Amino acid sequence: MAKPPAGRLYVVATPIGNLGDLSDRARRTLESAAVIAAEDTRHSAPLLRHFGIAKPLVSLHEHNELERAPGLVARLAAGEDVALISDAGTPAISDPGYALVRAAAAAGCEVIAVPGPCAAIAALSIAGLPTDRFAFEGFLPARAAARRRRLAAVADDSRTLVLYESPHRLGEMLGDCVTVLGAQRSAAVARELTKMHERVHRGRLDELASLAAQDPDLARGEAVVVIEGAAPREESAGAAELDRLLEPLLAELPLAQAARLAARISGLRDNEVYRRALALRAAGSEEPH
Ligand code: SAM
Repeated sequence: MAKPPAGRLYVVATPIGNLGDLSDRARRTLESAAVIAAEDTRHSAPLLRHFGIAKPLVSLHEHNELERAPGLVARLAAGEDVALISDAGTPAISDPGYALVRAAAAAGCEVIAVPGPCAAIAALSIAGLPTDRFAFEGFLPARAAARRRRLAAVADDSRTLVLYESPHRLGEMLGDCVTVLGAQRSAAVARELTKMHERVHRGRLDELASLAAQDPDLARGEAVVVIEGAAPREESAGAAELDRLLEPLLAELPLAQAARLAARISGLRDNEVYRRALALRAAGSEEPH
């Protein structure tokens, strides 16, 4: 007997706040799928109810995605269409989905995007910062040391940076951005996009960090942080000389001590030398034991 044609995996974007942002195509796709794989079935149930969509739901979250993928791929292979949604926005973008998409594609199934809301793109589009080249860094690590290392690794990147952050860490994260990227860069914090209290705060990084420290409202609700990229680093004799001075010190000493010594020897500002030391260490060298 001939094999039934394989089903299709639809990756369906859902609203990040405003239900009016569910596209017609997304609604029709959800209505016609055999099954909907949802990050949190309890979270998605009200959305689906609102649109009158009654379909079997399967949970697919970061802790069971690898186990669930083969079963869903088997359903695709048997000819069923599967729709994938996450709690909000585009699945697989700082959300579950990557493993299922990969497994479905590897099994030769068609994977189809039903595009729509994505907080990163929405924030970038209204931040007022260059959009021609950008780097999406998702969530930075929760621990301060790891977060600073990740920031240092992108400190010289001239592309606009786009970051997600959870509300309770926003102030701490902006403080680290000031330390590692410098106070002067232009940035935007886009909060509660598409919702009633939507607000975009624009300013220098140090202004936004002190706003976050003073105004508890800033740490309420969901936010995307968009930061101007690094100014092209002048490959001046001075910059090369600072690297030549820092590299052997970093190989022998803890970062802060190496930076302090290099600042004293070169006469450059502590902050500037510290930032460069962080970038050099992030670019390769290990912390000395
Ligand atoms: N997949 C989602 C997307 O396409 O945007 C992102 C999911 S990620 C788990 C959640 C993060 O997205 C939040 O911590 C916040 O940084 C950002 N986010 C989601 N909804 C938002 C909104 N309405 N306004 C601002 N940021 C939002």
